[in-house]
This record gives sequence, structure tokens and C-alpha cells, in this order.
Amino acid sequence: MDTTPAAPSSVRPRRVVTDRRGGRSRAPYDSFNLGDHVGDDPGDVAANRSRVARELGVGEDRLVWMNQVHGSEVAVVEGPQDGPLAGTDALVTATPGLVLGVLAADCVPVLLTDPVAGVVAAVHAGREGLRRGVLPATLSAMASLGARARHVTALLGPAVCGACYEVPQAMQAEVAAVAPAAAVPTRRGTAGLDLRAGLADILGRAGVTEVVHDPRCTVEDPQLFSHRRDGVTGRQAGLVWLG
Ligand SMILES: [Zn+2]
Repeated sequence: MDTTPAAPSSVRPRRVVTDRRGGRSRAPYDSFNLGDHVGDDPGDVAANRSRVARELGVGEDRLVWMNQVHGSEVAVVEGPQDGPLAGTDALVTATPGLVLGVLAADCVPVLLTDPVAGVVAAVHAGREGLRRGVLPATLSAMASLGARARHVTALLGPAVCGACYEVPQAMQAEVAAVAPAAAVPTRRGTAGLDLRAGLADILGRAGVTEVVHDPRCTVEDPQLFSHRRDGVTGRQAGLVWLG
């Protein structure tokens, strides 16, 4: 018997992915940069983050960020934080109105939602996170709050695509050992990685069947930040909350 209490029907998972447009930052962070660790003017980043809170209709203290380290550390949060969570690549909450943010510029922002249990997560999943199991770790933290993989929808946000993401053959093999679907040829016919295909592979094996792909490639789409394309640049955000 499934004894998970249903979330109040007025509260449902919501998610947003930002792009470069509509912010205050100047080149090379123009303009809606939400990353506070990339060398941008802190005042401009703060103004951009304020705009996020305003648009979502929440107080600024309700935005929760991470200092991401390409690891698999997951934090369950229940309320506003004093600052970004250190050494963390995934945030999980069951608290309505708390907005979880993941920053990315080629890595995959993954937004997980279980509308039945009322549990959401924001995950930073690049090559290392994928390999180190950040997604299974997040699903297990969500399960501790009552979420069930079969109820979870995953959004795989904009990221570098397989055709653009060339890696050494040994690195491709290392990732393929964890997620075979990630190994693809690049446009030039060299060894490549399709991170989103790899993550979908991992999610499927974990019991998550509903996977939504945002097909945009950060390298190819000028409306998105791409570290691989531009080097010093800003970060877009994936945002998820119960609202
Ligand atoms: Zn591409």
C-alpha cells in the first residue's frame, strides 16, 4: 500500500530555465547572468537575482543556490539559507515556496518533480556529476521525503550537445561505463559525449520514465551562456519550486 500523503492540490511543482536575455550584467556576462562566482559585478548579479525573485513572486530569501563542485553531494533544505550551500550539486525540498536554483553554462541543469509527494530537486549534472552518480543520490534523497521514481518527471535543460562535445576517447569510455547512451560521435566524427542521453539512461534505470528534453545546445544557441564557446561568461539557471 502506498501511504504517501498527497500534496495539497493547490501546490504543484513549477520550473523555469533562464537564458541570457533581460538582465543587467555587461559583456562578457551579458546580460542575465545569475552566477556569482564567474567574475561578474556582484551588484549586477544581485540585481539579476532580485529580478528572478520578483518574476516568480517570492521573497529574495526564498531563492536557494549552491556552490557547485561537480560532485554528488545532495542537500535537503527546509527553509531559507544564509548563503549558497557549499560543496553541493543537488538541492531537494518539500517546502512550498522555496525556489531551488542550479547554475550551468554547458553542464545539464536537471529539474526533478514529484507532484504526488510534493518533492522537487535541482541538480547540476555535468560529465563528472553523471559519472559520480549525482542523479541516483538525488533520487534517494527525494525518496527519503516520500517521493517515488515512478511519479517523478525529469527536465533535462539546455546543455552542450553530443555533436559539439568532443572528449578524449578514454574519457568517453569512462563515462560510457556508467551510462552507455552518453557515448556518441561528434559532428567531426571524433569521440563525443551526449550528457543528456547519458542522464536519461541513468534515470530510466532508476525507474524514472517521464523525461522531458530541452533540446537546445548551449554552444550553438547564442541566447544561452556557454563556457565551452566563450570561456569567461555568465551562467543561466534552472529553477524549481512548489508553488
Ligand atoms: Zn551543439
